[in-house]
Amino acid sequence: RIVYVNGEWLPESEAKVSVFDRGFLFADAVYEVTAVIGGKLIDYAGHAARLKRSLGELGIASPVDADQLLDIHRQIVARNNLGEGLIYLQISRGPADRDFTFPKNPAPTIVLFTQPKAVLANPKVETGISVVTLPDQRWARRDIKTVQLLYPSMAKMEAMRQNADDAWLVEDGFITEASSANAHIVTAEGKLITRSLTSAILHGITRASVLDLARGAGVPVEERAFTLEEARQAAEAFITSASSFVMPVTRIDGEPVGNGKPGPVTQRLRASYIENRLAGAI
Ligand code: PMP
Repeated sequence: RIVYVNGEWLPESEAKVSVFDRGFLFADAVYEVTAVIGGKLIDYAGHAARLKRSLGELGIASPVDADQLLDIHRQIVARNNLGEGLIYLQISRGPADRDFTFPKNPAPTIVLFTQPKAVLANPKVETGISVVTLPDQRWARRDIKTVQLLYPSMAKMEAMRQNADDAWLVEDGFITEASSANAHIVTAEGKLITRSLTSAILHGITRASVLDLARGAGVPVEERAFTLEEARQAAEAFITSASSFVMPVTRIDGEPVGNGKPGPVTQRLRASYIENRLAGAI
């Protein structure tokens, strides 16, 4: 693969980041993952806007402007001949002698690489995924997309140990989100319930697009926290993320959701997300 590091295009074996990089030592870095289909960027504007917000929250100055950022995304697709897959972007505060305080004159590090992946033809779409619930033990600023992903990794490992595909995280009896996706349920009355945007969850770009499409299609949407019990009683459940789009959740803690099959609202939203976002891809 050809990767991008601080203004240079290099084979991955030649790319280097300092051992003193604060992304490495302190997880002092933010990231974005953007899906690519047919060589085009899906929901790019949302990812670029959230990146700016995450950087702003941490006071990291972007090493590139908006035009450069888009140009780098386009070039990395072209240079790697990426038809379908993901673009990973990370910006850290950069290298500095190890100290808890931020450096006075930081030089942020920017890295991008690609991951080829069949995003559309995901076999899990047919069956849905199974999730187990685990306590949400992440830090309290989940709205900032930092690379501090140890707890989500541990949660995912625990889910796999329990023969499930993913974890839904629970705080004070309410579902926050999945290990790396937003969590949603559909009630028997056909109402979509999803957690509102606070610092308890990441403000998913796919979530925002899907909610727009749901409202446009006349699906009632309620943005509020829902309990584990409500999730267990739901007719349908699903997750959203840039890498899974809209993915049905058909088991929670071993019990089927509704009839245990991907639900009609979920399937319609997946189809409409794909159709709409492919048409808007850049
Ligand atoms: N929540 C968390 C914790 C995530 O890590 C992600 C994806 N990285 C999401 C939600 C989904 O966000 P998006 O739709 O922007 O990919």
